[in-house]
Amino acid sequence: MAEADIALIGLAVMGQNLILNMNDHGFVVCAYNRTVSKVHDFLQNEAKGTKVVGAESLEDMVSKLKTPRRIVLLVKAGQAVDDFIDKLVPLLEPGDIIIDGGNSEYRDTTRRCRSLKEKNLLFVGSGVSGGEEGARYGPSLMPGGHKEAWPHIKDIFQSIAAKVGTGEPCCDWVGDEGAGHFVKMVHNGIEYGDMQLICEAYHLMKDVLCMDHDEMAQAFNDWNKTELDSFLIEITANIFKYRDSDGKHLLPKIRDSAGQKGTGKWTAISALEYGTPVTLIGEAVFARCLSSLKDERVEASKSLSGPQGTKFSGDKAAFLEDIRKALYASKIISYAQGFMLLRQAAKEFSWSLNYGAIALMWRGGCIIRSVFLGKIKEAFDRDSELQSLLLDSFFSNAVQDCQDSWRRVVSTGVQQGIPMPCFTTALSFYDGYRHDMLPANLLQAQRDYFGAHTYELLSNPGHFIHTNWTGHG
Ligand code: NAP
Repeated sequence: MAEADIALIGLAVMGQNLILNMNDHGFVVCAYNRTVSKVHDFLQNEAKGTKVVGAESLEDMVSKLKTPRRIVLLVKAGQAVDDFIDKLVPLLEPGDIIIDGGNSEYRDTTRRCRSLKEKNLLFVGSGVSGGEEGARYGPSLMPGGHKEAWPHIKDIFQSIAAKVGTGEPCCDWVGDEGAGHFVKMVHNGIEYGDMQLICEAYHLMKDVLCMDHDEMAQAFNDWNKTELDSFLIEITANIFKYRDSDGKHLLPKIRDSAGQKGTGKWTAISALEYGTPVTLIGEAVFARCLSSLKDERVEASKSLSGPQGTKFSGDKAAFLEDIRKALYASKIISYAQGFMLLRQAAKEFSWSLNYGAIALMWRGGCIIRSVFLGKIKEAFDRDSELQSLLLDSFFSNAVQDCQDSWRRVVSTGVQQGIPMPCFTTALSFYDGYRHDMLPANLLQAQRDYFGAHTYELLSNPGHFIHTNWTGHG
């Protein structure tokens, strides 16, 4: 008997939590998993007493669904998604909907959209952010693919998503084909950037201002009441405070070698591919790579020295405020770069992206949730085709207000030998972006000199000429 509103395949942590979330919102979910014993375990434990039903096979699952059938896959990204799609196709009817909620690569999603369209099935690739906790109590959801599917899944998606403000859901339709997964990928890249910026602030506080953990916790608590109000600032304050069972702070005991799963790297690769200067996320990925060379760094630290005798002697409270402003300005650059990449992808793939809605989707439910994203939403409400966040008056004024502090932090940090890849690349980007004339005229001349690559004159753009620079025939 067709009784279930939706099915979910994949009973690992994300799938289980998303099912319980849908159940809480009144939807009847049919649960299925490759290893069927996990369906029984789930029904007897986590889902006990709920309206969740189980399926013994894909045929059984399909027979329990109302039409058009809605089936969510939350399985390991990659081959497992294709395998399930292949098995589902012969069991479905035109108009049925397959939704991939895993961390799939956006090109795979585009490929799946195209192949399922030929079979008259609808496909949605949805970014799901917020980890286990988000999945259970309100994730940020970024669906894209076949838009005809949206009216059939909108109610479920927006009901289970995180809510902000007056109950606005952190979920809206993103765009065609792989747009949802592309937006999720950029979100993850921005998360890398936000985390690295906080780490650089920490490094400056610790090694330039010689602050202890309780002082740093206090600073982050204070910062969380400013424009920086966000989940990551809040948890960082808690991390500083946390003491191990021996009563000592846990943080300094943690090995300084960062891991990564790859979505930050994908964002940086896309930025290179589409020629968009998303420098901050790139540096954030490389900073993790450099950190992971722990043994090599330990060796190098024995022979390579930094600046000597440059102890900070300025006003500590004033410099702490400078660091806060440097962090805020750099964060604005990072988001400006992230949205530049989205604009470029929209152009490449003819996606019509709603940038304000994307900011709202990230406003709650995910790791980068912050008050700041509300400001980005407002900027796109003022101008939906805004070319760069830096050209919005709120953000240009904010950067202007932070600029002197930002430059003091970068120059002091450089003098003190503190690595600040994201603070410095953000400032370089800002300085590059605001210059009407860059030294690329020389670059063009060099290219033409050694390779006859031609150049344009400022007075005649679009017309390419070559000069015989050596005068030799
Ligand atoms: P996971 O560990 O990525 O995947 C486990 C699930 O995939 C199980 O149901 C497993 O079935 C199934 N599976 C694995 N290989 C398979 C194959 N070859 N064929 C069929 N099924 C296969 O689970 P997860 O952490 O819950 O994540 C699910 C998806 O959400 C992933 O794409 C992940 O990247 C994404 N995601 C995760 C998080 C997070 O915080 N964990 C956050 C956002 C997005 P069996 O039980 O039979 O092995």
